[in-house]
Order: sequence, then C-alpha cells, then structure tokens
Amino acid sequence: MLARILVTTTSSLCARLSPSLYRSCHSSSILISQVDMRVRLLPALDDNYMYLIVDEKTNEGAIVDAVNPEKVLSAVKEDGVQLKSVLTTHHHWDHAGGNEKLAELSKGLTFYGGDERIGALTNKVTHGDTFKIGSLNVKCMFTPCHTKGHICYFVTGDDGQDPAVFTGDTLFQAGCGKFFEGTPQQMYSALIENLSKLPEDTKVYCGHEYTVSNLTYALHVEPNNKDAQDRFAWAKEQRAKGEPTVPSTIAEEKKFNPFMRVAEPTVQKHAGGKTDPVVVMGQLRQDKDNFRPKM
Ligand SMILES: [Zn+2]
Repeated sequence: MLARILVTTTSSLCARLSPSLYRSCHSSSILISQVDMRVRLLPALDDNYMYLIVDEKTNEGAIVDAVNPEKVLSAVKEDGVQLKSVLTTHHHWDHAGGNEKLAELSKGLTFYGGDERIGALTNKVTHGDTFKIGSLNVKCMFTPCHTKGHICYFVTGDDGQDPAVFTGDTLFQAGCGKFFEGTPQQMYSALIENLSKLPEDTKVYCGHEYTVSNLTYALHVEPNNKDAQDRFAWAKEQRAKGEPTVPSTIAEEKKFNPFMRVAEPTVQKHAGGKTDPVVVMGQLRQDKDNFRPKM
C-alpha cells in the first residue's frame, strides 16, 4: 500500500509563543503525516530539532529531545495529543536539558535514554530494547561515539510500515556527529552496520539543521556527486525560505552523505587512497573537523 504523505507548514505556533521563544524558531514547524503516524518538527535553540511523534490510532504521543518544554507542551495542546513519553538521544544539554522541567510540568511521563547522565531518566534502554508509543513500535539502536550512551530510535507502524529513525547527533543529513566519546570503529558500526541496514525508505529525523554546511563538505569530498549537487541546491532554497531540510531517507543518505559512503572509491580517493572503510571514517571526520570552506 502506498503511504499517504502530507506535509503542511505551520508558522502560527511560533507566532503564539513569547518573543524570546519566537526568536528561537530557525525554521517553520512542519507536520509530516503518514498512515500510522505523524511527526511534527519543532525547531529549538539556534539549529536543534525536537520531534513530536503521534500514533494516529490512539493519539498517544512521544517527544524526541525535549530541550524546550514550554514549546513541547504548546504543541501537545494545540495538536490535542496525549503525551506519554520522552525519547532522549543523548545527554548533551541541547537535547536533554529540558527533561527535569518537563517532568515537573507534566507528571507521569516515561523518560527513555541510554545514559545515566540524562536528566529525569526513568527507563534506561540499550541495543535491541523495544517499547510502544500507542500502537507504534519503537526499537532502540545503541550508537555510541558522539557520546558513550547515544541511542537512535527506530519507529514503525504496528505492521512495520512508515519506518522512521530519530538519529540525534549520530547521523545528520549529509554528515555525522563529532566523535567526542568514541572511535571511528564505533561510528562505522553505527552508520554502516546498523543505520545503513534499515529499510531504504526509512525517514531520517536528525538532531540539527546542518544540511547546507554538511553538503558543502560532501562536495569537497566528491565534487562530481550529482546527488550531492542537487541536494545542495535544494537545501539552499529551503533554508532561504526558512523551511527545514529534514527529513531525508536512508536511501538518500547513501547517495550523498560521505560518512555513509566510506566504501566508495571516490570517497576513499579523498582519504588519501586508504581502502579500509574504518580508517576512511576516521580520516573523513578529522578532515571535516579542520574543514574551512572558501567563502
Ligand atoms: Zn550532541
């Protein structure tokens, strides 16, 4: 069955918030509606995204990375959702920093995460753990490297349709997170051995709006990659309109994300001809950390 995909843009949510919160709206708040679930993108801080996931059958909701609790609760009220759980990808303050406040403002929530450093944590999860958001299935993927306790959440409808993955600071559109607490081997395992194996049409909802900058680097690695060129042109147009570039899909990431392409000869050539994909992963990360695009 073909999924019904409807994207609507709502800027009214931003307009109703206080001036200080309004300033934090770096993008429109868009709603992505499929058969079993809908996902509302909630921009936060300078370039973060929170995501309100709603099960269409039960109207039960979960919020991913609730850094701005007031904005989360406004969206929950506006959309008439029953918020039951909080899915935290990792302990950094721009993802987990709103947890304690949200626990105070909304009693009885379940807080999932893979790291003791996450505030208000009630349910510590690890690789392969599963739970539900109403009738939706959630599977936890342990992806340490950016931080030691990073979790990505893979969500599907009750019969496996509408796959979506919430990747925090592990996989970004056209990039990946810095290796603050891990190794190239761990990021290789996360991106190539785990996330790349998800269904090709899985929607990727990442933690930050870094797409244009990431594609600038992707084109430094592979200047002749037509998919990266096209995505770059599209992403610049989206950002000029204040629209998000999220989500992408796993199939798209494999076409233009250099960190998902460490086995490609063009990417290996950029990494000085190294052919071990784990070594290439490490070289690329180091290269990008020192990359200063020509203005
Ligand atoms: Zn982080």
